[in-house]
Amino acid sequence: MSPSELELRFENLRSGARAEPTPSFKQRIDRLQRLRALLIEKEASFIGALSSDYGYRAAGQTQFADFTTTIKAVNHNLQNLKYWMAPKKRSVDLSLRLSLAKAAVHHVPKGVVGIISPWNFPINLSFSPLASVLAAGNRALIKPSEATPATAELMERAVSEYFDGSEVAVITGEADVASAMVDLPLDHLIYTGSERVAQLITAASAKNLTPLTLELGGKSPVIADRDANIPYLAKKLVFGKHFNAGQICIAPDYCLVQKDQLDALLAELPQALDQTANERSGDDSVRIVNERHQKHIQWLLDDAADHSAFIKTIQPSNNPDYQLHIVIDPDPGAAILKQEIFGPVLLIRTTNSFQHQQAIIREGGHPLVIYYFGNRRDRFQQCIDQAPSGAAVWNDIIFQYANDDLPFGGVGSSGYGRYRGQAGFEEFSNPKSVYRAGLVDTSDLVSPPFGKAFQLTNRIMRKLWLN
Ligand code: NAD
Repeated sequence: MSPSELELRFENLRSGARAEPTPSFKQRIDRLQRLRALLIEKEASFIGALSSDYGYRAAGQTQFADFTTTIKAVNHNLQNLKYWMAPKKRSVDLSLRLSLAKAAVHHVPKGVVGIISPWNFPINLSFSPLASVLAAGNRALIKPSEATPATAELMERAVSEYFDGSEVAVITGEADVASAMVDLPLDHLIYTGSERVAQLITAASAKNLTPLTLELGGKSPVIADRDANIPYLAKKLVFGKHFNAGQICIAPDYCLVQKDQLDALLAELPQALDQTANERSGDDSVRIVNERHQKHIQWLLDDAADHSAFIKTIQPSNNPDYQLHIVIDPDPGAAILKQEIFGPVLLIRTTNSFQHQQAIIREGGHPLVIYYFGNRRDRFQQCIDQAPSGAAVWNDIIFQYANDDLPFGGVGSSGYGRYRGQAGFEEFSNPKSVYRAGLVDTSDLVSPPFGKAFQLTNRIMRKLWLN
């Protein structure tokens, strides 16, 4: 896409936002309903496009993770928008209350919001933010990933069928198009992708002081406490590593087990894999998105082997499409200890205690999620309180995302800002402070000359606030 075409699409959106800065409830509902219709009516074509982009991606994977969850997110916006849009009354200080002043927060749209999305769930990670952006009354410019080009092209066509170019537009092309988009004076930008690109975006967006939401990845740990149910843990790890072939930002990246749990876990993993994968046909599988990513995963495995890791590959007895590579205790310096895996490879690190596990997590930065398996409430509370992460989950994996009412996002190196549900509505709104003067003008009491009336007022206020 040429720079002038990009400018044109942006200007169209900006003119729309200027002509109608705060769309009514009815207009927003209409846009959300059109998004819902697009998702329902175009699902079948997107399933084909995504499968061709991946080399193969099971229809069921796309149906559930890209469509069912996104339609559910749109519904959640439709159901709650009226309440979210209502001005929220705020209390008024006693001194101002005497004058009958009023205060409230009105959430008004920001304007044109950019959405840059990755290849792993192109529909969900473009249209779920879009639902929040439209609910908040904004216009949107979407740049899907160049790693899923057929999907991106279809998205461009489908969006132009359901939306006017002054409401939502999609731009396609390589990373240079996304980079040119970041240079535009957007009113907000949500980026989902890698930390490396997020650093470039943060630097580039400084020019226009564009507010950012950064949805990044990282290494989400799984803690196995002493009393963890190992067969259940194995089942959940296999689920997490085979959901979209492990190419999911909230996948369990590595598992911290006590040394004496290792043999039991290694015995359970093949059984868990057999149970979930043996019944499936190859038709249910998902490929690694492209050769470059496949090579990167292989490189992580080779590098781990060079760092004395014990590596074991398991696969169901009659289904070679579901291999799981298990990497145990590489030496310090192995890339897999630092880099996000994003594929069907499970790193296991053996530990001595819960404290040791916590120390490893703290060293590892800011994961998107910490998964705790065990039965101790106090230990799970420590996961919430003592390690920085975007979310903490007890005895489950990935399903926290299924809840539209939970804000989604990271902290530190896993990103910042939150969206989905009410958090998304607020993220893409300007929470305008609105103050209405009361009937009595009290400003005379605090203006010069600072005579007796002022001294008395000041004394009363101090008395009220200092006691
Ligand atoms: P990717 O390569 O598809 O890139 C994502 C987007 O960044 C693309 O649309 C691309 O065009 C754009 N881009 C590339 N260079 C750019 C630049 N210089 N300026 C602006 N935009 C640019 O995806 P990826 O980065 O490989 O995605 C995988 C990563 O995304 C993983 O780290 C994963 O954990 C993370 N992720 C996070 C979430 C989340 O919600 N937190 C969800 C999915 C993926």
